[in-house]
Amino acid sequence: MTQINNLDDIVRNGLCIGCGLCQSISGKNCIEISMSPKGRLEPKEVKKISSETFNKILNVCPGVVVEGLPKEHVDTNTKYDLLWGYYLQLFYAWSTDKRIRFESSTGGLLNGLSLYLLESKKVNFILHTATNPKKPMRSVSKFSYNKDDLLNSNSCSRYGPTSPLDRFHEALSLEQPFAFVGKPCDISAIRQLSKSDDRVNKFCKYLLTLVCGGSTEFTKSQDFIDSFKVKEDELSIFRYRGFGNPGKMYIKTNDGREFDKEYNSFWGEESTWRVHFRCKICPDAIGESSDIAALDTWRGGSPEGEDEGFNATIVRTKKGLELLYDAIEAGYIKKGDDLVIDDINDFQPHQVNKKISVYARHKGMKKQNIPTISTDGLRIKELYDLNSKEFNLKEEEGISSRVNKI
Ligand SMILES: Cc1cc2nc3c(=O)[nH]c(=O)nc-3n(C[C@H](O)[C@H](O)[C@H](O)COP(=O)(O)OP(=O)(O)OC[C@H]3O[C@@H](n4cnc5c(N)ncnc54)[C@H](O)[C@@H]3O)c2cc1C
Ligand code: SF4
Ligand code: SF4
Repeated sequence: MTQINNLDDIVRNGLCIGCGLCQSISGKNCIEISMSPKGRLEPKEVKKISSETFNKILNVCPGVVVEGLPKEHVDTNTKYDLLWGYYLQLFYAWSTDKRIRFESSTGGLLNGLSLYLLESKKVNFILHTATNPKKPMRSVSKFSYNKDDLLNSNSCSRYGPTSPLDRFHEALSLEQPFAFVGKPCDISAIRQLSKSDDRVNKFCKYLLTLVCGGSTEFTKSQDFIDSFKVKEDELSIFRYRGFGNPGKMYIKTNDGREFDKEYNSFWGEESTWRVHFRCKICPDAIGESSDIAALDTWRGGSPEGEDEGFNATIVRTKKGLELLYDAIEAGYIKKGDDLVIDDINDFQPHQVNKKISVYARHKGMKKQNIPTISTDGLRIKELYDLNSKEFNLKEEEGISSRVNKI
């Protein structure tokens, strides 16, 4: 199998998700991240990085290595599911703040927890992802210190390309307690970094995530505005969802024109999602190494209309459980009914399908002499062994036929 010898090998083989951690490690003068013609945020070496720096990147990059929840975070009361991993509790939960619940993606569980963390002074700031205020179709990593910062930045699902970790070392260097909210691949990279940088566990106190169907390429957003004959520099608002659950895909121009599309008609069939190649081979899109994962709760996996917003939560660690119950007690989060794994399967059929398919997809890549992600503690081989031979072969051949489109 081809080895990964430099940064370009990660990018060119479709393993990069554009998280930005390599840039945060090396500095902007060495690695620049820019939008590729395919619509992905991709890093490029602009000044030769040392082999020492490259090795640091190899040890954390979510295109190279992804592992499950570190053993020291697996509590004695933890339950275990072969597909969904370790969890302490599953239940419905949402923000009690009406504005957060309405404007956020689902029920504002993640923004509601972020607000509680700030106002209870458990952390000094939240590192998360928000709309680029100058170019609303694009996203930026953001340090939020209060409710205004959190709310006035469209910090809800930003499905397009983002680099949530491009300022992670800047956050560490502040030497203040903070929480990180991001995708499972971002959380995985942080956990890897914590093995070599003591500051991670010392200052990054909580890791909150969302269950993730994949990050769409920028071209999907571009096609959306093109369909209304709107240019990117005319936009004042670009929203994928929120302002309801799910809320509409919505744009507004500087001169006041508004256009929208129903959530289901924008997303449609999974094959039209146009997610990054890295997402198709994602061994952990369910936030296995987070403290808390939040998800949507539509039966069968798609919304049938608007509702007030009801997240489910998968609580992974004791720290996550304590945080959630503290936030419930303090009145920031409302706890709904308890759930069981069958409910989560029903809410997330695409996650179930991906998790059982991933090992075969990795095999297909290896057969084509393409490097793939090294994994540990994610049970993908065990799930593969439970599938029919026909299913595995179809997945293996499916990815092999797609590698020329990486
Ligand atoms: C790319 C992507 C794919 C998703 N796929 C699924 C799925 O398959 N199933 C599912 O149940 N839910 C999925 N979601 C999450 C879902 O849309 C809701 O965000 C989730 O239920 C949490 O809802 P909430 O109301 O608590 O979130 P909010 O309170 O709105 O908080 C969302 C948080 O996510 C952060 N964020 C948003 N976009 C990004 C990004 N691109 N990278 C890093 N951080 C980001 C924001 O900064 C904010 O902190 C996805 C979200 C994204 C961004
Ligand atoms: S996945 Fe992240 S760390 Fe890895 S190459 Fe891409 S931007 Fe860099
Ligand atoms: S599917 Fe996986 S790689 Fe893609 S954005 Fe989600 S967590 Fe990251």
